[in-house]
Amino acid sequence: MTYCVGLTGGIGSGKSTVTTLFQKLGVTIIDADEIAHNITKPNTYCYESIVEHFGNNILQSDDSLNRKMIRDIVFKNPEERKWLEARLHPVIREAMKERIAKSNAVYNILVIPLLAEKNAKNHNYLNRICVIEVPIEQQIQRTIERDHITEAQVREILATQATNEERLKIADDIIYNGGDLSECRNQILELNQKYLSLAEKEK
Ligand code: ADP
Repeated sequence: MTYCVGLTGGIGSGKSTVTTLFQKLGVTIIDADEIAHNITKPNTYCYESIVEHFGNNILQSDDSLNRKMIRDIVFKNPEERKWLEARLHPVIREAMKERIAKSNAVYNILVIPLLAEKNAKNHNYLNRICVIEVPIEQQIQRTIERDHITEAQVREILATQATNEERLKIADDIIYNGGDLSECRNQILELNQKYLSLAEKEK
């Protein structure tokens, strides 16, 4: 099995930014959000059961899921969120394992936004967990600027996510993203070297 590093962080912490930097170094990225999107396209098993559960009103005119509407429903309703996660997460994990099995990279980065919120032990294929840490004020400011939402809205989202402390508990490595992009890049360069050599040792 190829060496696997799980990458996680809260909203606006820099997951996309960090992922792009690793990608530029030629690292293979497997993204849980992208898989979630793929396994809920029309005519997939998950799609059918989501439509059955929430009803046809969550469909757009082209029969694809209205993702914003579903996000709003589960944001306001923990029971619905639980249902959706129980339906999707095992399928996402299996799809990730399939991707890992097919990968011939030295190591893979698996981007898993909810790794600290859920039982990280479910992801027993991960050799290491890397957490992006960012001071909360900066996280809020960057999210406001990126998503054009209010501070209150960001705080509402943050309240549903793990705290920095909870995330750091599961971290083997930490990327501190409170600095500028070049500081971030330097840490990625170092981590890439570390992961390449750890992956070689595991072979
Ligand atoms: P996530 O994918 O975790 O939600 P992003 O990578 O999209 O976070 O980062 C959130 C926002 O902050 C984006 O607009 C991104 O360009 C910006 N950003 C991320 N890291 C830095 C940094 N080190 N310096 C300045 N802006 C950054």
